[in-house]
Amino acid sequence: MLRPGRIDESGDISMVDSKQMYEELSDLSAEIARCGRCGFCQSVCPVYQVSADESGVARGRIMYAKGLVSGELGFSRRNEAFFSECLLCRACVDTCFSGVRTDEIVVAGRRTLTRIQGLSPVYRHIFERLLPDHHRFGRFIRLAGTMRRMVPDQIVGAMRMFGWLGRSMERSEQLLQEVPDEFLRERLSKRENARTTMKQAALFIGCGTNFMFPHVGEATVEVLEMLGYETLILEHGCCGLPAYAHGALQAAQVLARKNIEEFAKAPDSIIVTDCSSCASFLKEYPRILSMGEERGQIGASEAESFASRVRDLTELLGDRAHVFLSARTGHRHAQKGENMGSVPGIRVTFHDPCHLSRYQRQASLARDVLRSLPGIDFIEMKEADWCCGGAGAFAVEHADLSLKILERKTRNVKASMADTVITTCPSCLMQLRSGLRDSGSRIRAIHLVELVRERIGIAIESASL
Ligand code: SF4
Ligand code: SF4
Repeated sequence: MLRPGRIDESGDISMVDSKQMYEELSDLSAEIARCGRCGFCQSVCPVYQVSADESGVARGRIMYAKGLVSGELGFSRRNEAFFSECLLCRACVDTCFSGVRTDEIVVAGRRTLTRIQGLSPVYRHIFERLLPDHHRFGRFIRLAGTMRRMVPDQIVGAMRMFGWLGRSMERSEQLLQEVPDEFLRERLSKRENARTTMKQAALFIGCGTNFMFPHVGEATVEVLEMLGYETLILEHGCCGLPAYAHGALQAAQVLARKNIEEFAKAPDSIIVTDCSSCASFLKEYPRILSMGEERGQIGASEAESFASRVRDLTELLGDRAHVFLSARTGHRHAQKGENMGSVPGIRVTFHDPCHLSRYQRQASLARDVLRSLPGIDFIEMKEADWCCGGAGAFAVEHADLSLKILERKTRNVKASMADTVITTCPSCLMQLRSGLRDSGSRIRAIHLVELVRERIGIAIESASL
């Protein structure tokens, strides 16, 4: 166990003040002190619900942080779970009477660990070399996809059966089954952009949309054009959320700074993304850039002005889709379960990405969009806001926990009797598709914008018949 101390040049651990040693956590001492240890967070925490382990619930994590700051506890490999096995889903924050920001305490703990132990070479390469450069990241994913395709499925199946892949590798292999032949940026570079004299939307292309779901990005561009926006494609990198969530604050800040500089090239346009995780993190840039060593590298007003231009695509759809649909197709809005003329009805349910519902408070907007579309029978599933267990790298690093959390989500999707489950985050989409595929379900999981394009297309066709 690592007690408060520093390893000096001679290799000895010199004892230092625990507040100094765990400075990221000690900055949150007031937040930590607000936990009254009532335990209400147990009933909503997905990790606790599937593990029944106090290290997996907000109260346990906060008490551990308190012990570190006071010097009563130290870091150890065994105790890493207090900080690493958290989805940052904020279910506990919403339930807590004091509203204790457990997610921020957990990230502060991860930052402390990263500072003390250093980033592993793999994560350093990902955060500092791949995430900032979509060309390099694309080449890496293409190579991984090619290598995977070169190994026959039977051999991969046998390796999985004998446990030779390792849990993390096995889960990565399952999740990355859908690497497309062409990434979104490649597809868009061949596309004739619609020129409008109306408005411009600079597209923030999330890594998930670019590398895993290019058809979602294409639907986004088409629907934006229908809404009267010309889309601009810039040379930006990852939003930085994976680095921030890992505790690599500085790497996240470097990405944030570069993105703000890049989008300053389109100062009059809004910044739109179809990834709710990216959207919520881009909106948090002012807070992220006010922390730690990179503080002050970008002026607060620049960060604020950038964040004020960011729109989750759900916001635009919520504001405009139903108006657009009525005007364009002449259809009145669908009633529950009703077929609109020749528009066939489908039963749809919605999975709330944590970054849409808890971080951006836009869960009701997504439902407004669904209810405004023709031929949609919207069914609210049980525990729609229960995290899918994806949470970026969590799905791979804690594969067993993630799969147990996903199992409950998949059960609820199936019990809703919907034909289609909709969401607005590519990471959730990957996880939902994997859960449904592995359970033998034929329910399709698609992004909200795909459904909007599909319904608009069908409605226009039927209106012009
Ligand atoms: S985090 Fe909130 S809900 Fe959980 S034990 Fe502390 S005070 Fe209670
Ligand atoms: S953020 Fe989510 S996973 Fe983490 S402690 Fe809170 S409820 Fe549990």
